[in-house]
Amino acid sequence: MRRKLVIGNWKMNGNRAANSALLSGVVAGLNADGAARADCAVCVPAPYLAQCQAELQGTAVAWGGQDLSVHASGAYTGEVAASMLVDFASRYVLCGHSERRAYHNESSELVAQKALAALAAGLTPVICVGETLEQREAGTTESVICGQLQAALDVIPAAELTKVVLAYEPVWAIGTGKTATPQIAQDAHRFLRARLEQKNPEAAAGVQILYGGSMKPENAKELMAQPDIDGGLIGGAALKAADFLGIIHAV
Ligand code: PEP
Repeated sequence: MRRKLVIGNWKMNGNRAANSALLSGVVAGLNADGAARADCAVCVPAPYLAQCQAELQGTAVAWGGQDLSVHASGAYTGEVAASMLVDFASRYVLCGHSERRAYHNESSELVAQKALAALAAGLTPVICVGETLEQREAGTTESVICGQLQAALDVIPAAELTKVVLAYEPVWAIGTGKTATPQIAQDAHRFLRARLEQKNPEAAAGVQILYGGSMKPENAKELMAQPDIDGGLIGGAALKAADFLGIIHAV
């Protein structure tokens, strides 16, 4: 039985005061029921990792980064190494969010290398895949997400698959208010799990596949009731404690 996992992606939002209010609201509202049903984490801008460590240590909320470098250290101005995320006790790191793919030209091969760097440092990579509206309308959803996933499967050893989280995030649903129907999402998740099965059948059954794209308290329950949807990667709704908690409690 896979545990549900709900991760908030703050994107480039926040400041120390607002973060504190948000984190204390989430911790206070994450009652025993919520914590028992789902694992919970926030992926924050790198400058706020220290704040997360200070304010979340000992709570049921884990934290992590939104991106990492493939390099261990050195002359890579502006980049954040996996070891730096680990230095602040991060557990997760997003790899290949669609905004990184679109605005920073991250290829699936680079994303795969980032996932490897995360694994090597003991972090859990959350590998994001998803099709654009044009790709869905052209009927290429499966080949697009298959290609994005395959690049990672090509380099991640089969035995390491259990340490990976996948996120299916249709680009047309991110930040748009248009959520994939539970059936559309389930079909994509089932398809992704079948690809994982080809690499490592036993591990595939245990890999958490999160749905991301305008998930809110009102639609979370139906989405997460699908057999292959193991939680959510939440953008906008993760910035309000009540909405984030509403999603966790919908599990
Ligand atoms: C995201 O940024 O990963 C995301 C799913 O955003 P939103 O929930 O705002 O659509």
